[in-house]
Amino acid sequence: MATRTPTLRTTKSARLYDRASAILPGGVDSPVRAFRAVGGAPLFMRRARGSRIEDADGNRYIDCVMSWGPLIHGHAPRGLVKALAAATREGTSFGASIELEVKLGERVRRLMPAVERVRFVNSGTEATMSAARVARAFTRRDRIVKFEGCYHGHADGFLVQAGSGALTLGVPTSPGVPDALAALTLVARYNDLESVDRLFAGHTGEIAAVIVEPAAGNMGVVLPEPGFLQGLRDLCTKHGALLVFDEVMTGFRVGPGGVQGAVHVTPDLTCLGKIIGGGLPCAAYGGRRDVMEMVAPAGPVYQAGTLSGNPLAMTAGLWSLEHLTARLYRDLARLTQQLVEGLAGAAREAGVALQVNAMGSMVTPFFTDRPVRDYESATSADTARYGAFFREMLKRGVYLPPSQFEAWFLSAAHTPRDIRAIAAATFDAMRAM
Ligand SMILES: *Cc1c(COP(=O)(O)O)cnc(C)c1O
Repeated sequence: MATRTPTLRTTKSARLYDRASAILPGGVDSPVRAFRAVGGAPLFMRRARGSRIEDADGNRYIDCVMSWGPLIHGHAPRGLVKALAAATREGTSFGASIELEVKLGERVRRLMPAVERVRFVNSGTEATMSAARVARAFTRRDRIVKFEGCYHGHADGFLVQAGSGALTLGVPTSPGVPDALAALTLVARYNDLESVDRLFAGHTGEIAAVIVEPAAGNMGVVLPEPGFLQGLRDLCTKHGALLVFDEVMTGFRVGPGGVQGAVHVTPDLTCLGKIIGGGLPCAAYGGRRDVMEMVAPAGPVYQAGTLSGNPLAMTAGLWSLEHLTARLYRDLARLTQQLVEGLAGAAREAGVALQVNAMGSMVTPFFTDRPVRDYESATSADTARYGAFFREMLKRGVYLPPSQFEAWFLSAAHTPRDIRAIAAATFDAMRAM
């Protein structure tokens, strides 16, 4: 019996993409949005509510992207919309201090006690870039260690990945990053403490900081193995380097206290973003008081921002953090478990090799039969298969990240019914691929 092949009408998106391509490089403002990693033309979105998103042609999808992480409460929660409308009437930006910055700062510190002092900025990129500057000033050292496959925004020094597993001096991932700058970035292997130990041994007294996604989300979800984060803590302490947790994605996502709260490892500095802005441009870096006192005007390290701490971002951030309840995390954990089982079950039935990694409400199904624990195993995934899967899921009303190497995000607005629909679509999609 022939099953109906779902089709998707996307003529308005296609027309918008044509126009966009004549004004925006590649037709987008951020590269993954262009769907290059999955094939096909990108969708233009026009509205979203709860767990649903609607494109320019009026097609509706269950959203598993959720703006790449900020929307833990779902799209446009009523209370947040109301709070933002009220804040807007009082003025959108003053370029001066406001009470909301103090309130949000105090709340962040309550949730993450390691953040003794905090500075608000506008994007995760700004947060990590500034944290690196402060770490260098504090230690009077220049080198930074990062991990292969981890993403810390697009500042020059972080656009470095390493040559095929070789732990060498950094080479730029992007033209325009000077070799001299990239050379200051050393690259280690995720979940491999020995690779970090070797870098410290080869660069005695030169390493300012080790920066890590304490649970990685930007090569797809990759969990820290037991002892990895504590091992980094010990190595940094031993060698006088600062440990920087980039919790832009994981902060308030895997639990109210981030990964650091879950595994009880205390970093010197923490970078936050995404959920802290509740869907508005807001991020932060913070940590040890003595380190953060380096930041101007308390100290000599310059860092500033015209719109930093503006009333709208602070309002959205505060609303978002104030509504993080124990119940929300319990519900999300249950939904995530249901999704993991649904994906794995569908793959088993369809006879597809799939590794599903998850932490908090972040999930990545990798099209590979190898356990995924670092960049090398992540990239063993079959990206062409993911692309085919992505396109089939779209036709079935599920909007996934347009790349194999991204996390899917659930929110408080997703329901068990949504998850059952995703699992059913997964089974059909895998059979149709
Ligand atoms: C998203 C992300 C960033 C960059 O944040 P932007 O706001 O996109 O600049 C940095 N680090 C991690 C871990 C991220 O997930």
